[in-house]
Amino acid sequence: MRPSRRSLGISAGNSDAWHIYMRAQELIAGGAPVAMLTIGDHDWVTDSAILAAMHESATGGNTGYAAMSGSPALRAAIAARAEAETGIATAPDQVQVTSGGQGALFAAFTCCLDPGDRAAIIAPYYATYPDTVRAASGVLSVLDTRSEDGFEPTRAPLDEACTGARALLVNSPHNPTGAVYSDATLAAIAETAQAHDLWVISDEVYASQVFEGRHVSLRSLPGMAERTLVVGSLSKSHAMTGFRIGWLIGPPEIMGAVADLGMATTYGVPGFIQDAALFALSQGDQIAAATAAVYARRRLLALKILSGANGLRILPPKGAMYVFLDIRATGMSGKTFANRLLDEDLIAVMPGESFGGAAAGHVRVALTLEDDRLGDALSRLAGFAARNARDTTSGEA
Ligand code: PLP
Repeated sequence: MRPSRRSLGISAGNSDAWHIYMRAQELIAGGAPVAMLTIGDHDWVTDSAILAAMHESATGGNTGYAAMSGSPALRAAIAARAEAETGIATAPDQVQVTSGGQGALFAAFTCCLDPGDRAAIIAPYYATYPDTVRAASGVLSVLDTRSEDGFEPTRAPLDEACTGARALLVNSPHNPTGAVYSDATLAAIAETAQAHDLWVISDEVYASQVFEGRHVSLRSLPGMAERTLVVGSLSKSHAMTGFRIGWLIGPPEIMGAVADLGMATTYGVPGFIQDAALFALSQGDQIAAATAAVYARRRLLALKILSGANGLRILPPKGAMYVFLDIRATGMSGKTFANRLLDEDLIAVMPGESFGGAAAGHVRVALTLEDDRLGDALSRLAGFAARNARDTTSGEA
């Protein structure tokens, strides 16, 4: 017996993106005091009022099958928020509640692509994107961006990557680079999408974490609402990663298919989780702002410790909860740097290569430790880079 070719093809034999994370987890399980700066998971427990809302919902009886596309109240709250942020009329039935932003990404690709259709993604990219496109039977078209351009895509390469594509995935604020796309970049994306008649999947899970510039949803640009699917989530904004709650917002024509897919996959998100999400959203921006403030503070700490450090260059993030470091001056690949940093200093970071070839020679540091431990880990990371700094022309260490 053999698994389907489609399922075997999901990782395309490339499942080592999370290697350092797994290795660090094993070390921690064995008692090693590893500074865990790999994945984007907060170092604190979800707000107690959200937990209380979840508890109240569950003990109040909301433990049966839930409304499959999301409870009417939650869909209405998400729609109202999207409408307020974009100025685009949004009806509750344009919202599908999903198992996290990841569930929304899979739904978006599955409902936009026919088998073999091309989906353009912009590298560096969030590590699940290629697998998600392949799981939806799509074919990748990868557009590389450069640090010289602030990791924002420019018009001609965008045009090239989108030729013959059916969908374009855009992520701003951006993981892993911290880019927040400028108005000019968003306009170029909108023009390209319209010229090539593309679906645009706009991953906005970091929308509440912007430290420089401002977040503009692609859906709010002229002519974009009818072709844009917005991926949202409470994972990052409200420290609710483990709740697995997010949403997809799109034009009415596609939402019936998205609902069918929801039925065929998760059969809905648990009702008590939806009630917790509704409570979280009913608090306005308060919880999201408090979460963002933690990362704003840690971002400044990272800039203070790492700016000017020998052997690395910090690329000041405009948004999200990471810092992205160019470590090419050590002569090491991101993978070698991350493996050695874990072995020698018990600090776990993500190698740039996990986010595509365009991120080679970089590492991503999640700002997910309380400030004292984070500061200590970053100082030791800087020491490691300085010890290994050398002429970049001399090759791999
Ligand atoms: N999109 C991006 C860019 C992410 O970084 C993540 C998680 O790290 C997700 C989507 C998925 O988020 P969720 O936890 O809501 O599934």
